[in-house]
Amino acid sequence: MKVPFLDLRREYASIKGEIDKAINEVFDTTQFILGPDVKSLEEEIARYCETKYAIGVASGTDALLLSLKAFGVGSGDEVITSAFSFFSSAGVIANLGAKPVFVDIDPLTYNIDPQQIEKRINKKTKAIMPVHLFGQCADMDPIMKLSQKYNLRVVEDAAQAIGAKYKERRAGSMGDAGCFSFYPTKNLGAAGDGGMVITNKPDLAEKIKVLRVHGQKSKYSHSIVGYNSRLDTLQAAILKVKLKYLESWHEKRRGNAEYYNKAFKGIEIITPKAEIWNYHIYNQYTIAVKNRDKLKEHLISNQIGFDTYYPVPLHLQKCFEDLGYKEGDLTNSERKALKVISLPIYPGLKRDEQDFVIEKIKEFVINPV
Ligand SMILES: *Cc1c(COP(=O)(O)O)cnc(C)c1O
Repeated sequence: MKVPFLDLRREYASIKGEIDKAINEVFDTTQFILGPDVKSLEEEIARYCETKYAIGVASGTDALLLSLKAFGVGSGDEVITSAFSFFSSAGVIANLGAKPVFVDIDPLTYNIDPQQIEKRINKKTKAIMPVHLFGQCADMDPIMKLSQKYNLRVVEDAAQAIGAKYKERRAGSMGDAGCFSFYPTKNLGAAGDGGMVITNKPDLAEKIKVLRVHGQKSKYSHSIVGYNSRLDTLQAAILKVKLKYLESWHEKRRGNAEYYNKAFKGIEIITPKAEIWNYHIYNQYTIAVKNRDKLKEHLISNQIGFDTYYPVPLHLQKCFEDLGYKEGDLTNSERKALKVISLPIYPGLKRDEQDFVIEKIKEFVINPV
C-alpha cells in the first residue's frame, strides 16, 4: 500500500464545487489585489482568533518580517527565538539586519524552553519570537511575564498553529502580534503562498497595512519604506471556503494523533506530548526514534511518506556560522534533529493507511532490520 505523506487532492476533491465557485467569482469581478474577499477573510480570522485586527500578507515569512519591522527591529537589535524551527523564524530577523539569538527547546514539546530565555536577554534585545511548533502553543505565560519585566515585544510564530489554543486563548492572540502562514501544507492552506498578522493593537495593525503596500498611506505618498506583500484576493477567496472546515479538520488530525499514540504505547517511540492546557492541532505528528535514518529506509521501501522537521537546528545552519554557535551549545535541539520523523496525519488519511503505517513502524521498532 502506498501512503502519501500529504495528499492535498483529497481535500480539494471534498470541496471542489465551493472552491471552483469562489475562484470564478473573483474572476467575475477581477479585483485581484485587495478585493473584498481579503477584507472579509481578515474579519473572519480576527473573529476566529478573538483579536481585534487581522491583516493579510503575502506569506507567513512576510507576516513575521512585517511584524518585526513594524516594531522597529533592525541593525544592532537582538531577537530571541527557538533553535528548532523552520528557517523563516530566524531568517526574517537576519534579513532586517538584527541578530537571531537561539534558545534551546523543551525536549518533550519541541517548543522553546522559557527557563532558558532570561539569561539571553540583554540591552540589545528587542523581541521574543516563540514558535508554536507542529501545532502546539509554546508555554506563553512565562514568556509574557519576561516581556513585561524587560519591556520586550512578543511576536508569535503561529505559522503551524492557526486555531491551536493555550489555556483557552488562540495561538497568535497572546503576544503583540501573531503570524500565520497559509502555505499549502499548513492546517489552513492556500493554493500558493499567503499569510496573516493578527493583533489587538490598532497602531500595529495600521502600520502593517501600510508596510504591505510599499509603505504608502495614501497613493504614491511614502512616509516609510515598505514592501509589496499583499494576500491575493484569489487566495483569500479559497481560504474563506476552507476556514469553514478548519475546526472539523483539526478534530480529524487530533483523532489520527490519538490513534497513533495508542498504537505506539509501550514501544520504544517517543510520541508527541501535548500539555493538558493546550489544544494541539497537529500540523505535524512528530515522533522521535533511535535509528531514525534506518527507519526512513524502511518507510521508503514500504512506500510510506514521511518528512523530517527539522534535520539541522537553526544555530548550526551554515548561514549563521558567524554567530559563533557550535555543536553542544543547544543539546536538546541537536539531539532531536537526529531522531525526529513526521508521519502522515492529514485529515484525509484513511484508517487502513494509518494501520499500515503503524504496522510497518512497529515491525521496525520491535525487530529492527
Ligand atoms: C511555514 C512556516 C513559516 C513560513 O511560512 P511561509 O508562508 O512558508 O512563508 C514560518 N515559521 C514556521 C514555523 C513555519 O512552519
